[in-house]
Amino acid sequence: MKDQKEEYSNESYLESVICTSCNKHYSPTQKLGLCPACNKVLFAQYNLERAQESFSRNTSNRSYDIWRFLEIMPVVNPKFRYTLGEGWTPILNLRNAGEHSGLKNLHLKEEGYNPTGTFKSRGLCAAVSKGIELGIHDFVIPTAGNAGAALAAYAACTGTKAHVFMPDDTPSFLQSEVIALGGELTLIPGLITDAAAQVQIAIENQGWFDVSTLKEPYRVEGKKTMGLELLEQFNWQVPDVIVYPTGGGTGIVGMWKAFTELEELGIIGSERPRMVTVQSSTCAPIVRAFEKGRKTAEFWKNAKTFAPGLRVPAAIGDYLILNALYESKGTAVVVDDSEIILAIKELAKLEGIMQAPEGASTYAGVRKLVESGEIDSSELVILFGTGSGFIYPSLWKDIFLEQNNI
Ligand SMILES: *Cc1c(COP(=O)(O)O)cnc(C)c1O
Ligand SMILES: [Zn+2]
Repeated sequence: MKDQKEEYSNESYLESVICTSCNKHYSPTQKLGLCPACNKVLFAQYNLERAQESFSRNTSNRSYDIWRFLEIMPVVNPKFRYTLGEGWTPILNLRNAGEHSGLKNLHLKEEGYNPTGTFKSRGLCAAVSKGIELGIHDFVIPTAGNAGAALAAYAACTGTKAHVFMPDDTPSFLQSEVIALGGELTLIPGLITDAAAQVQIAIENQGWFDVSTLKEPYRVEGKKTMGLELLEQFNWQVPDVIVYPTGGGTGIVGMWKAFTELEELGIIGSERPRMVTVQSSTCAPIVRAFEKGRKTAEFWKNAKTFAPGLRVPAAIGDYLILNALYESKGTAVVVDDSEIILAIKELAKLEGIMQAPEGASTYAGVRKLVESGEIDSSELVILFGTGSGFIYPSLWKDIFLEQNNI
């Protein structure tokens, strides 16, 4: 007899890895990066028919971390399901900010409560755990900042190595965080794309495993838990709009994958939220591509913005992000850095929430969409507060104490 706690199986139904572009299948026991055949993004694929039997709506006796949804997570052996308590972040009802911006049902998923203060921990938890299951001990990452800290944290707790390459003008707190967590930090002049080029050289010389955004199949599996959780927290009801600050886009891509899987599991129907990308007006490759109706984005020259997570001039998963925007009948919007600063201030004063600039940009974006009539006042709108304000202490000093124009 199974006791109550054993109601669900302990199994991952990971079946294969499939290319999002050429549809080739690969064995999930292989170490995989991009598709060996066409160099595009690979996705983990599960046997959802079998997973359906144990993945029930009632998940109340499960752990409150990303492994809660273990049937559709990639780690097979439970001993490799590492955790620092990432995930199961609260959804805050923004009553005051909602009223201020003309929305009756405005919420924020507070990802700042994750380990290392951003949603990045979800993806790196999944990638490092799965990597260790596949026998990997040295991980390397190019980062605008937060992904490096998250990798270092999971490398520390699993006894593996984090090699982190970041632009040399990344906020100093993020640099010291990587070092504090035992990561090996290399500073690169330029942007995240320049750091990525250095990572390629290091991989060839050192044989380290690349956990760059969407360049291996498993980080996005961690990110998809944002979508799974969000729906579970709303009792498997699908919100009208999700607003997401977009850099490399794994958040949008991961959530979109989650919704597809939930439909195949019979948990939701074909309804979907409208997915909205917010980018900075000074680095907006996805918004520009969306406005032109393109399937891929062009490299954004002279990318700059004080929101490090949004300073991504080219995204390898551009076609997947744009596809989610088009299929969901969503949209894409730019905000100026000055509007982000105003949003940071308003979230703090009106709601008691200290968000990072990236997360706050969603509030700036939603205000524009209400004004333009693209979001209706009664719609259920979810902002993704992707990071805590506390990870950029110098920024708060600049905004509130020195009144600098940043
Ligand atoms: C990385 C990052 C983003 C961008 O996320 P993607 O999923 O790569 O688009 C947004 N906000 C914060 C705080 C980040 O660290
Ligand atoms: Zn392919």
